[in-house]
Amino acid sequence: MLSTEEAKKIGLRACIDKLGYSFCKKYEETTVYGYREEDGLVECYVGIDNRQNDNDKKSSPLFLDDTKMSPYYARCSVSRADGTITFLEEHIPMNWTKHYKKAVTFSYDDGVTPDVKLLEIFNKYGIKCTFNLNYGLGPTNGGWEYMGKPVNRLDLAENVEKYAGHEIAAHALTHPDLTKLPLEEARREMAEDKEGLTKLFGKSPVGMAYPFGTFNDEVVNMLDELGFQYARTVWSSHNFDVQTDLLRFRPTCHHDDEKLFELAEEFLAMETDEPKIFYVWGHSYEFEGNENWDRIEKLCQMLSGRDDIFYGTNEEVLL
Ligand SMILES: [Zn+2]
Repeated sequence: MLSTEEAKKIGLRACIDKLGYSFCKKYEETTVYGYREEDGLVECYVGIDNRQNDNDKKSSPLFLDDTKMSPYYARCSVSRADGTITFLEEHIPMNWTKHYKKAVTFSYDDGVTPDVKLLEIFNKYGIKCTFNLNYGLGPTNGGWEYMGKPVNRLDLAENVEKYAGHEIAAHALTHPDLTKLPLEEARREMAEDKEGLTKLFGKSPVGMAYPFGTFNDEVVNMLDELGFQYARTVWSSHNFDVQTDLLRFRPTCHHDDEKLFELAEEFLAMETDEPKIFYVWGHSYEFEGNENWDRIEKLCQMLSGRDDIFYGTNEEVLL
């Protein structure tokens, strides 16, 4: 029979091993540990909170609820009777930078019917994308026109499987301009979108894209409080640098950017010791309206199949 102290030591050690010792060391200042005991089982938790904003970190309880969960954590239980370790939950960093120096990721908004065709293209080339969805909107909420072509929203509940293998992120419940709403209303829009998408897709979104690309400091803080770890703006950076202000993340460019292929060539040819990210965003209905599906096909063809590039979702690449 192990003492509580012994079981705790084993459990915390196992969690640290799971996360990687050097990773815990790197984020030492924001690493939180915890344990609790019930029925002869000692449950241990090690979490690393590398969020930029300090608001949440200060109040981080050791066992966090879903919305306050630190980005990386491991939780296990240790049986005091025989020392058996059982992992209960884990969210381990991808650490793509260990094996690669370059990563490619995509971000598409609104959950519209041409997403299905876009997904086929991404899947054909082994490209990973993040889809930013409005849980509260579907085909019955009315469509609109883009370049004279009708745009309709997908019935998300009927298309869960189609998005398999890609990341689902939030885009607010009903696509409002978050800066024009009272803060509490904006918070409800984001919290309910997150909750609905979690129910539908079985995983809580960790990121979002700003509807209409608009945000302000209050909105950014509110997202941080809700546990969002990155939020995409619509300002092109036209570069591949790793960014630290992830709640004001700037994509490399939109897919219709006139520099798109120039940037792609530059990225492919680039030799680097620092991690570099090529991040493209847009809406799938734009390919339909602009009749330029060949553009995304060409881009995917160019970027895919390289063993020096990591193809990941936004979550995998940015966090
Ligand atoms: Zn949108």
